[in-house]
Amino acid sequence: MLPRSWILLRGDVIEAVGHADSPEPAYDRTLNADGKLVLPGFVNPHWHESFVAPNFEQPDDSDLQPTPYARGGNIEALGSMFGFIATVGDRLTAEEGRAIARWSLWTQLRSGTTALGDLGSSNHPDAMAEAAIDLGMRLRVSRWGSDIYIRNGATCFDRVADPAAQAADWERLLEKWDNHPSGLIGGMPSVTGAFGSSDELLIALRDLCKSYQCPYATHLAPLKHEADALRAVFGMTAIERLDALGLLTPRLLAVHTAYVSDRELQRLLDTGVNICHSPAHYGMLGEATISETKLIGRLLRDGYPISSSTDGDITYTGGMPEAMRAAHLCHNEALNDNTVCPPTRALLTGTRYAAKALGWEHKIGSIEPGKQADLVLVDIDDWRYRIGNHPLRTFLVAGGSKDVHTVIVAGRVVVAAGHCVAFDEEALFRDYAVAAASARQRIGA
Ligand SMILES: [Zn+2]
Repeated sequence: MLPRSWILLRGDVIEAVGHADSPEPAYDRTLNADGKLVLPGFVNPHWHESFVAPNFEQPDDSDLQPTPYARGGNIEALGSMFGFIATVGDRLTAEEGRAIARWSLWTQLRSGTTALGDLGSSNHPDAMAEAAIDLGMRLRVSRWGSDIYIRNGATCFDRVADPAAQAADWERLLEKWDNHPSGLIGGMPSVTGAFGSSDELLIALRDLCKSYQCPYATHLAPLKHEADALRAVFGMTAIERLDALGLLTPRLLAVHTAYVSDRELQRLLDTGVNICHSPAHYGMLGEATISETKLIGRLLRDGYPISSSTDGDITYTGGMPEAMRAAHLCHNEALNDNTVCPPTRALLTGTRYAAKALGWEHKIGSIEPGKQADLVLVDIDDWRYRIGNHPLRTFLVAGGSKDVHTVIVAGRVVVAAGHCVAFDEEALFRDYAVAAASARQRIGA
């Protein structure tokens, strides 16, 4: 925490950081950050672009039913839903995909996310990567692999897609987008979960990502009922299966990992797997990822670099400020200990730890010389901050996405005073609405 400081940028890089009393370096231009909290660009490693989906939710909750994530999880319902989502991207036209992706990505950039990890979207990877470049933000782009489906109570799986075709999609994606010359885009192939993937698909994921040395991702041990469903079919849990197939490595991003045995946990820690969670999303779905096992809070307490993320939904359900708020509040509550996830650690879960999860820890995630100049300026010049001594805590507890004022990616201002620099926000939304309506008419609900 540096009160009254300066940051010197040269091109896309942070060159120096100093206190207001230290000698100022020479510069051409300044951006005045008076009344602002200057934070590293937020990194959201786990997100799904899903804004093409129609929303039938009733505002009075009269349609309320348990979600497939609630009450221990319904693996059959999830497999069916994720399998369908994995096919949507190929059914959008290039123009539809890009217009939908631009609006969807904008909601993340607007809330201070400078780098996103796509964990599999209802969109095409090309449209996602092009939209990110259009907006000037970073993206690890994905294609969701999902080739099998496990019915509740089944002892064998149904095959629903060709693993070789999905592996070929991953290879095309990596060839085109990994280490992209824009400096903004990389690849991160993913599978929905061990319950949606055959051994062939998982082996293809392992081998491709090894040859490209890129991260890969999956939901791993997220629900109480997953282990039994997998044991009945494969004789192993999700973590045991990934271990047996050689996928537990430091390039694996494992999400919502909460239901693990002591032995499985030891393997995850020994192999350096990155664990990520989405603390602000669980309550609305009825998932018990934080409080039932308290695993993620215990890992944070013990200093492991567990990242926070928003996850994806069919509407905007919050950005990284809300995710980091939930990390701060929920883990301290669950463990009855305010030292488990104080504000500075909550910020790490959405910056440095999250950059590590995307394999970009040398590039982004903190404000220090040599790193890319990704910065978020938060407006703290109002009544909420007039008393108190901890502006970061006040932002996390009483602020939110809309308080993000300026966003800088690689030294370029991409959000100024809350507005998109590259596009008119109304035009972005109109293009999205037209594209979503035409896609829904063709694909169906
Ligand atoms: Zn997810």
